[in-house]
Amino acid sequence: MPAPTLTARYAEAVPELTSAWQPTLPPLAEGQRAEYVVVNDGLASHLGIDPEWVQGEPGLAVLGAREVLPGSTPVAQAYAGHQFGGFSPLLGDGRAVLLGELAQAEGGNVDLALKGSGRTPFSRGGDGRAALGPVLREYLFGEAMTALGIPSTRALAAVRTGDAVFRDGVMAPGAVLARVAASHIRIGTFEVVAHSLVPRLRASVFDRLLTHTCERHAPHLLERAPGERPMALLEHVVEAQARLVAQWMSVGFLHGVLNTDNTAISGQTLDYGPCAWLEDYHEGAVFSSIDTEGRYRFGAQPQVLPWNLARFAEALLAGGGQATAEQADEARDLVAGFAARYRFAWTERMRAKLGLAPGLPGVQDPTAAALVDDLLAILAAERADMTGTFRALAADLRAGTASCAPARHTRWWQRWQDALAGADVRAVAARMDAVNPVYVLRNHLVEEALAAAVGGDLGPFERLRGAVSSPYVVRPGLERYAEPAPPGFTQAHVTYCGT
Ligand code: AMP
Ligand code: MG
Repeated sequence: MPAPTLTARYAEAVPELTSAWQPTLPPLAEGQRAEYVVVNDGLASHLGIDPEWVQGEPGLAVLGAREVLPGSTPVAQAYAGHQFGGFSPLLGDGRAVLLGELAQAEGGNVDLALKGSGRTPFSRGGDGRAALGPVLREYLFGEAMTALGIPSTRALAAVRTGDAVFRDGVMAPGAVLARVAASHIRIGTFEVVAHSLVPRLRASVFDRLLTHTCERHAPHLLERAPGERPMALLEHVVEAQARLVAQWMSVGFLHGVLNTDNTAISGQTLDYGPCAWLEDYHEGAVFSSIDTEGRYRFGAQPQVLPWNLARFAEALLAGGGQATAEQADEARDLVAGFAARYRFAWTERMRAKLGLAPGLPGVQDPTAAALVDDLLAILAAERADMTGTFRALAADLRAGTASCAPARHTRWWQRWQDALAGADVRAVAARMDAVNPVYVLRNHLVEEALAAAVGGDLGPFERLRGAVSSPYVVRPGLERYAEPAPPGFTQAHVTYCGT
């Protein structure tokens, strides 16, 4: 059972942005021991990691943050970030560590990192720890998003440390999440270089960070002249983020804390903290305990991302030295282009959700766009369940009935029928079912699964994980996983940042 081989290319490329890491978790008391709560065997195999190494004592020691993998160079990463609009010049991995990169058979590298791995120089007042509930929450969300085809970091394992952490006035089981990401480079990584690094180092570190980022995420940009790369990268990230947010919005995912340090350059969903899933559709939905102004409410996500990308643009302009007026104009135009890219990606998804395939009469705008907008207005007015509605629409179409909320709006229903005119309704319904999930991470199911897991019963967690890992296929016995929460649950639901 060979151990994986980890490189330290990030640490070698930008050592100024890293701090060497050694295990820092407090020693366990007599009789306490670390153990796996979950291991993602499928992901391990996919990544070329021997599941037997993971399962064995050496894997547990490394992924449980007790030992350094021989030959690896783990580091805590520095980054800055705009949090709720205000700039924090130095955040960094206060409870995380980058173990290294893992080469992939299909080319490229992924990061292997830990979260909840103990204090680092970036911990400030925090304990560097994580509690089991939030670790399992991040595990579930990574799996659910991936199964939906939405770019996301994923968990390789969750380890129970054997000791307890203090959270919200009580002791909770401590845990470490082993996390795989395309990279952990964030908008905040560029911001720390542009705004926080001493001027003497800035240009050199910026160049190396830019080159490394292009190598990781957009190698084709290295064919461009060096002076063109910052704006080419900006364009690349604008497109990746527009597609990502369009996917979130099409399934009802609410990230909850879209600070620039939680916005990955890779275009993957990063850092599942106070996230939630919409049930009754409404754009003002906000669940996070600290988002008192609703800055990161559901409907604001497509506006927040371009705001974050404007901060990315500023960092790219400042990092490279004196930007010209033309470069500043170009950056502004690229960020402004988010809206059209988002709208395109979102409309494409929403059309597919309504079965509007190319060739049908209603696939073109303005018909398609108006159908989608009016449908969402109906959902909001009726407080209809977003996930369930799209499946119910397909079922109504098949049966020729009008039972779900939008189907009862006869004018809308008729317009949709006209848009589909000439199509085989069974084929349309099948197409819709292939893109509209039955099983998503409904908040009450997540809370129920985590409470049971913390109490020692992993059954509900495993069943929920199984349901959302194959979200489009109806399976008998999983009926309650497709049902909205009991009345009042989602309205009263509150989510928290901390792990
Ligand atoms: P996040 O909630 O992921 O956006 O984290 C924001 C910042 O707070 C990051 O710099 C984290 O490393 C830091 N942080 C969050 N929780 C802890 C903790 N328990 N100990 C130390 N740092 C933390
Ligand atoms: Mg974060």
